[in-house]
Amino acid sequence: MNMDVLVSLSKRRGFVFQSSEIYGGTGSVWDYGPLGVELKNNIKRIWWRDFVQARPDMVGIDASILMNPMVWKASGHLDHFTDPMVDCRECKYRFRADHVDAMPWVHYCPATKGNKFTIPAGEPCGHCGQRRTLCPNCGKGELTAPRQFNLMFKTFMGPVEEDAAVTYLRPETAQAMFVNFDNVLQSMRLKLPFGIAQAGRSFRNEITPGNFIFRTREFEQMEIEFFVNPNARVDGRPADEYWHDRWIEDCMAWFQRYGLSAENLRLREHERDELAHYAKRTVDIEYRFPIGWSELMGIANRTDFDLKQHAKWSGKSLTYFDEERKEHVVPFVVEPAAGVDRALLAFMADAYREEEVRGEKRVVLKFHPELAPIKVAVLPLLKKRDDIVAAAHAIRADLARHWRVVYDDTAAIGRLYRRQDEVGTPYCVTVDVQTVGDSERGEAGDSRVTIRDRDSMEQARVPIAELGAVFRELLDGAPWRQMSARYPAPPAKASGPSGER
Ligand code: ATP
Repeated sequence: MNMDVLVSLSKRRGFVFQSSEIYGGTGSVWDYGPLGVELKNNIKRIWWRDFVQARPDMVGIDASILMNPMVWKASGHLDHFTDPMVDCRECKYRFRADHVDAMPWVHYCPATKGNKFTIPAGEPCGHCGQRRTLCPNCGKGELTAPRQFNLMFKTFMGPVEEDAAVTYLRPETAQAMFVNFDNVLQSMRLKLPFGIAQAGRSFRNEITPGNFIFRTREFEQMEIEFFVNPNARVDGRPADEYWHDRWIEDCMAWFQRYGLSAENLRLREHERDELAHYAKRTVDIEYRFPIGWSELMGIANRTDFDLKQHAKWSGKSLTYFDEERKEHVVPFVVEPAAGVDRALLAFMADAYREEEVRGEKRVVLKFHPELAPIKVAVLPLLKKRDDIVAAAHAIRADLARHWRVVYDDTAAIGRLYRRQDEVGTPYCVTVDVQTVGDSERGEAGDSRVTIRDRDSMEQARVPIAELGAVFRELLDGAPWRQMSARYPAPPAKASGPSGER
């Protein structure tokens, strides 16, 4: 699957637009369009529901993006949140030093009179055998030695632009959970183990952003800090190790439950030399993105580093009193940290299918119903019949009290189905002559509509009065077969409402 296909579908169908496009865009920030915002909200909603709402050991917060700058001193971001960067002396392009070898490179080959080639990442030139030494972008300039570059966006708080007013846009949501640890603990009367979750914007002045919404300078994270007593044992193991494994399993299962296929997911254990100095163990969940295997989320055992640092710099004690053991402890923390935008990209890539239906290409996003931006499209079979159109509008309005439901009459039915397939709408409802009857001929309608299932393209004929209950079941995960058996559609005529039989 090619990233360009997703980028173009995203723009054409209102998922993701380049930010400030009419001004030529801006460096690696993107805007979510009408369908993108629904998809993104659905991802955050189910994450919150499954990991916060449904669990007795979790609570949430929503903290500010601007924090006291001391937070970033204590967390280590001011001193260490840096990437080594190299510059090309010729084209002035800037790269992350550790990304240079993973890029295709431009080469003027001496063995072919200086012809220009673009050579795949890490490979030598097939003609002269040389490996890359110069800038991969222009193929001409030397690269500078690596220099450290802080990724935090600086800004000023208040009316005066002076050093004392410098503050930062948060580069991660996690720190707010640590600095609010005691507020949450006291106000909610929690007992270890418990977790604090937050979803929100983060900002990183990435040196080499790119690959669509995979790496951007403004993005959203869904993070959990799960606090455990390091002296406790669960199933005979230290509690922090037990809970780390539990979170890895739960997060893997969560992505699969909502559509990512197992063969596109894998775990990657951080090597000793790549572990952050405070981390006991870190495991990434990697996804096979269109750009190759890359991090979807990270799950780290951060020990007691963060709480200890904030206690030291703030002078406030950030401990927990264990009633049973009669001891004060600084909890260890397990941090499952996911990116909303990367999750969205993975869900889209995995859902994308090109199928052949009766000799024609059908593009379909097979989103899990919980993720689908539009749950139901209501389509009138004849837009010239006022009674059919009115019935369709009424059905849309009724269903839209519960779900995102749209009405569309701007094309023939076959085309309308294809449009909904392409944006992943799991069900279409068609209102036809049989539904409303024909008053001129004295024929009564049956007050039933056709539901068409996106994945099987099969149909069922359901009383309008039961639509709400039927969609509640279907969107809650009831199998289509069960519904089509309960409400069988009459055998399709040659030109039945499906437009695809
Ligand atoms: P990477 O190694 O890709 O730069 P990271 O290890 O620095 O990521 P974390 O700090 O662990 O990332 O952040 C947790 C999650 O936030 C990542 O797994 C990713 O999903 C998301 N994320 C981090 N940086 C970005 C970014 N620049 N754009 C989009 N998502 C991001």
